[in-house]
Amino acid sequence: MICEKCKTENVEDSKFCRECGAVLKQDTEAHIVRALLYRRRGGGSGLGNAFSELTSALKIEPKNAEANYHMGKLMYDNAFLEDAIEFYKRAIDAEPGWADAHFATGLAYYRLCRIDEAIDCLEKAIILNPEYITPCYYAGVAYYHKGAVDKAIARFEKVIQRDPKFAMVYYHLGRAYTKKNMIDKAIEALEKLVAISPADSDAFFHLGFSYWKKGEDEKAMWALQKAIDLNPEDESSKSILKQLIR
Ligand SMILES: [Zn+2]
Repeated sequence: MICEKCKTENVEDSKFCRECGAVLKQDTEAHIVRALLYRRRGGGSGLGNAFSELTSALKIEPKNAEANYHMGKLMYDNAFLEDAIEFYKRAIDAEPGWADAHFATGLAYYRLCRIDEAIDCLEKAIILNPEYITPCYYAGVAYYHKGAVDKAIARFEKVIQRDPKFAMVYYHLGRAYTKKNMIDKAIEALEKLVAISPADSDAFFHLGFSYWKKGEDEKAMWALQKAIDLNPEDESSKSILKQLIR
């Protein structure tokens, strides 16, 4: 097992580290710390060892919030989403006010396309920690996914208030406004996006498309050409640009 202090690998069930002599504790906390070290190390053996450390932690304290949460993350990373949710829920049972655990549950539901459950969990994370913007972003994406475009826009606007440099939000906001036919607002969002991400061809495509919808042909040609320069395989931009040039 890995030493928490010097990170040397010791044989299983050692009492002391062979390198630095530190005591290799066997309590819940020590198992969790080692699990996180293994997880960071990654690879097959890192993940396997992280799993067995967390299993040991949960054997001692089955209801430990942190051990359940990290086990959930391990499951999530390995695409065992239903298992992840089970562990996250145990973490929440132990610590109902833990915003991260609600957020993580929401993400797992989102990846399973269980959108309503995802939204419930994400909203709970936001209530528990209103400063927490990532759940707010994903809540917006989830609302958009289920066609609740106004709610999506409200969530995205809130993210931008807190973090005006969160590029992906402008992308989603642009698409949401386009869906509502609010082309000026879409253009405004997408112009900000290309200012933050000047190498994103997809961003230029959506901006060009919005200019085109608005009838601003010259700006549309500029943005679409930019999209093609950044990604020569962008057939969507090419086909609109062809129509414009004609
Ligand atoms: Zn050591």
